[in-house]
Amino acid sequence: MCIIRTAMIEVEPFNEHITCIKTATEQDGSAIMFVYAFLVGDALFDVGCANAIDEVREFADRNEINHVYVSHSHEDHVGCLKIFEGRATIYANELTQKVLRAPPQYGEFFNYVWGQPEAVSDLSPIPNRFSIGDLDFEVIPVPGHTMEMIGFYEPERKWFFSADAVPLPSKKKIAMPDENIPQMVATMEKLVAMDIDILFDSHRGPIESPQKHIQTRIDYIKEIQHKALELHQSGKSIEDIQQILELEGPWYLELTKSRFGIDFFIKSVLFDKIVVEQPLTDS
Ligand SMILES: [Zn+2]
Repeated sequence: MCIIRTAMIEVEPFNEHITCIKTATEQDGSAIMFVYAFLVGDALFDVGCANAIDEVREFADRNEINHVYVSHSHEDHVGCLKIFEGRATIYANELTQKVLRAPPQYGEFFNYVWGQPEAVSDLSPIPNRFSIGDLDFEVIPVPGHTMEMIGFYEPERKWFFSADAVPLPSKKKIAMPDENIPQMVATMEKLVAMDIDILFDSHRGPIESPQKHIQTRIDYIKEIQHKALELHQSGKSIEDIQQILELEGPWYLELTKSRFGIDFFIKSVLFDKIVVEQPLTDS
């Protein structure tokens, strides 16, 4: 079988201020998975995956982009940062910067799906607030998926750019070892309580009136957590809990070579604690 891999970019204007830039690797004619970057005025929120770097460079050549705000360091969000080094100011918080300066090797599967980001060193600290034209954004910590992840909130318009704060599947059951699922739930509860009309999710795109979408994910995780805690207290192992709750992973789980696991998810809901929120920006 011959697998042809090409990159995809889809540029979709959303409103007068915001353009969605979706990037992905194409397999058998469709995207394996899209990741969104958002162009807001002359600023980009995240930059898309490295496999689409030629397409993003072409897009950048056609648009004025002076600022890039990075939500977190995962490869699908930062794969095209190299393009902007020296031609835009790239803002990221300290922990994110550390990874951007020396990105880990993500391995064959993730290179196939997203591509390997190059190191970037021309980085600026992220401010607590910033303006783009008449839009005023607040930088809001959204820990859980990663502890240093940040979102961008425009309170007047009630827009929240939430990166990976809200899981894509309605029933999340796999996690990375450093994901803190109770913290993720606390972040989602914070989002539900905020005044948000449109959530700009990095894998689903804009979600209008997102409260129900978010609550579904909170409810599922809390239900699993409750059952897992009961089973754990009755002496069941992580493996037993996975079997009893019939948690099954997606087809590609093995291919991630233990970057994702159902066991990480169960351990996190059982043992991880919610960290008291600390300021995660630099100024
Ligand atoms: Zn991520």
